[in-house]
Amino acid sequence: MENFLRDVEDALGNAEAPSSSELDDILSLAGELKGLPLSDAARLLMAGGEDALRAICDKAAEVKSAVFGPRVVLFAPLYLSNYCSNDCLYCGFRKSNAIARRKALSPDEAVEQAKILSRLGFKRIILVAGEHPRYSGVDYLIKTAKEIYSRTDVRILHVNSAPVSVEDFRRLKSAGYGVYQCFQETYHKDSYKVLHPTGKKSDFLYRLSVMDRALEAGFGDVGIGPLLGLYDYRYDALAAIAHSKRLEAKFGACAHTISVPRLRPAEGAEVKDAPYPVSDGDFRKIVAVYRLSVPQAGVVVSTREPAKLREQCLMCGASQISAGSSTEPGGYDGREKSTSQFYLGDIRPLPEMARVIAEMGLLPSLCTACYRSGRQGSNYLRAARSGNLDELCTANALLSLKEYLLDARPEGREIMEASLNRFLDEFKGPLKEDLKRRMEMIANGERDIHY
Ligand code: SF4
Repeated sequence: MENFLRDVEDALGNAEAPSSSELDDILSLAGELKGLPLSDAARLLMAGGEDALRAICDKAAEVKSAVFGPRVVLFAPLYLSNYCSNDCLYCGFRKSNAIARRKALSPDEAVEQAKILSRLGFKRIILVAGEHPRYSGVDYLIKTAKEIYSRTDVRILHVNSAPVSVEDFRRLKSAGYGVYQCFQETYHKDSYKVLHPTGKKSDFLYRLSVMDRALEAGFGDVGIGPLLGLYDYRYDALAAIAHSKRLEAKFGACAHTISVPRLRPAEGAEVKDAPYPVSDGDFRKIVAVYRLSVPQAGVVVSTREPAKLREQCLMCGASQISAGSSTEPGGYDGREKSTSQFYLGDIRPLPEMARVIAEMGLLPSLCTACYRSGRQGSNYLRAARSGNLDELCTANALLSLKEYLLDARPEGREIMEASLNRFLDEFKGPLKEDLKRRMEMIANGERDIHY
């Protein structure tokens, strides 16, 4: 299991920053959209200086556009509980946080929060919970999913929860969850042990092997990502790339998403400042290197980051972004005040974020079609690699945007409508006439229309 970490150490041990001609060669290989060997990814992570950063980011933007077109997927987290039996030193939910105001949503309360998010336009939500047998165990997650699916029009739930056994993953999957997400925090074992002193999470290998169990149990799509700032970013970012490659070799699908969280201060945390700070420039480089190394993975930048940096990331490889997030359980109704997992860097709500994306010439998407059409895991990867997905996905993004503009009537919708019409005019391919017909169906009140 740990072998891929030895590959990471070897690759980094031998890596030097590339010369300008070597950098050109690596970026030209990345342009083939087949990913990069670990040795090349390591060299990109070693690269320094503005010129190299610009070249890496420009190529990542090109690769993102070739694989995902102009789409930027928007989503929101729904925090279920801030009870936790672990004690991660950097987290506001940790069990020794004596000043934490604890809250666990009942399934009914989770439904109310999901309804709020759905009214705002989010039909895909990721449920997030600390690790606690009573407040966030598998039975609770199953019941909560069942209630949300049956009482709201949320179309797909993903889940970020503690590692469990293969059998429990099977039960979670059969409750209708789409992506299973779990972050290793740091792949560096010694640092991991210091930062996760007690609780189930202190078992490094159990966490490292979590995606094997999830995939074995039938989760086609899994989301990974180290928490940047806990250890040297070059090691952790390269380990995430190696982790994805290992999953692809074993299960036929790369990581569905690689998230790029950077440590943020949290109320009641013992470690408030990153032991290994990551600069904004290095953050952009990491986003870009993920894109170039695992081109078909969604690269996700959360609201931990400041607004300007998030926008820069959309121009260097990021393909998914959260918006209007609350990281406190019950945080979407504006009433409850419980402890959040960390402080946010970008508090812009969905309409503003979607408008900004449209103003950048990109296409905001609230699409959930892949999960409803069975394009997951290796099926998804095959479609993405064949180049067949771009037309379908752009069409689905346009359909989801049309629905959003009609139902949520967001501020700034004129700008988004103009963007929608422009992308529709420019849409090429055999689906165009059918797409226009489906747009009409949405205008006439039909919903959840997708390819
Ligand atoms: S990071 Fe997760 S496991 Fe650790 S204390 Fe926070 S909620 Fe619990």
